[in-house]
Amino acid sequence: MLDYQATPDWAHASDAADTLRAFRGEFLIPPHEGRDSVYFCGNSLGLQPRAVREAVNAELDYWGELGVEGHFKGRLPWMDYHEFVRDDLATLVGARPSEVVAMNTLGVNLHLMMVSFYRPTVERPAILIEAGAFPTDRYAVESQIRFHGFDPATALIELEADEANGLISTAAIERVLAEHGARIALVMLPGVQYRNGQAFDLKAIAELGHRHGCMVGFDLAHAVGNLPLQLHDSGADFAIWCSYKYLNSGPGAVGGTFVHERHGSSTLPRFAGWWGHDKSTRFQMGPQFVPTPGADGWQLSNPPILALAPLRVSLDIFRRAGMARLREKSVQLTGYLDHLVRTELAGMLEVVTPAEASRRGAQLSIRVVGGRAQGRALFEYLMLQGIIGDWREPDVIRISPAPLYNRFADCLAFCRAVQAWHRTR
Ligand SMILES: *Cc1c(COP(=O)(O)O)cnc(C)c1O
Repeated sequence: MLDYQATPDWAHASDAADTLRAFRGEFLIPPHEGRDSVYFCGNSLGLQPRAVREAVNAELDYWGELGVEGHFKGRLPWMDYHEFVRDDLATLVGARPSEVVAMNTLGVNLHLMMVSFYRPTVERPAILIEAGAFPTDRYAVESQIRFHGFDPATALIELEADEANGLISTAAIERVLAEHGARIALVMLPGVQYRNGQAFDLKAIAELGHRHGCMVGFDLAHAVGNLPLQLHDSGADFAIWCSYKYLNSGPGAVGGTFVHERHGSSTLPRFAGWWGHDKSTRFQMGPQFVPTPGADGWQLSNPPILALAPLRVSLDIFRRAGMARLREKSVQLTGYLDHLVRTELAGMLEVVTPAEASRRGAQLSIRVVGGRAQGRALFEYLMLQGIIGDWREPDVIRISPAPLYNRFADCLAFCRAVQAWHRTR
């Protein structure tokens, strides 16, 4: 751990010594009253890489100049465009290239994966999620349970927290599986929980789930681009994520899906579309669907090129920065923020997120001592100061220093702003 100090000298020296500091210059930092805002919302909408505009414009130019020929001509022909992000995406999530595909959005991919991997039977109808799951995840699993003719009252099992602040230990997962495992068709848990910032041990969960005969899928919305992932080695059956949070690929960006190699040529049922058809014979336009082996075989449509261009830019940044280096900085940066809250802001704020670096990513979920009204007041004060976090009901402020563009000085600015607010109370 660094020898953290709550001084501008220390923060600036640490920023100057940061080998990743140049990456900040590759992003557009939203201004606040003529200066850069302090943007801690990369867990909700990551910032725009400067190179995105040119990348999107290039595709607009090809469309203008080539029309339909853009599918085959240009620097990156549209026909194969999703393949141009594949290797970087695979590296980022620790998968084989054939195990990942950029397509659709998170909610759509979650449903497509459940079509294949949630196959309930009378004996084994249930899905396990965490209590307090993100709404779309809950709605999606509930609607799938109903779609198959089962009742969420008995077939949706919510894993209750066994630690303070809604945190869930691996032991609690073990216990729920020991009790209900034989009835659970699918274990569907997050990589990082969106509200409290807890990171889960994917490999341990996949092993536990498989031991009880369950399929295991992960929602990595808050984990991708945040934590180093080893999806292949985790053994998970599938995973899904969005790309507009830590991946900085823009509002509504194209999401991603991982399907473990062992299912790549499976005969599991799936909802099919022409882009999932074997590439070599796709344009014979035959009536018989023959899936492309691997994750590609779950594609439905020809991909949205204008939306994929920013993802390509983003993954290029992650490749150059390297997830291992980003994580190293992230541990220090979030560690600094945590240190400031626990020392300088003790009695004002409390951290909900686990204290151990191994159990969290970049995000700290923070509660204001004094309750919800105080929390809202601080949140609004921070926004007025250009310190951008977000609010999650009922009482949590989420602050996420993103190692690609946040600085130690940003964490100190947050600390000083909270102190200034507190003096006015
Ligand atoms: C952000 C997020 C989503 C968003 O889903 P979209 O389909 O991209 O709108 C879903 N689940 C979790 C856990 C999230 O954090």
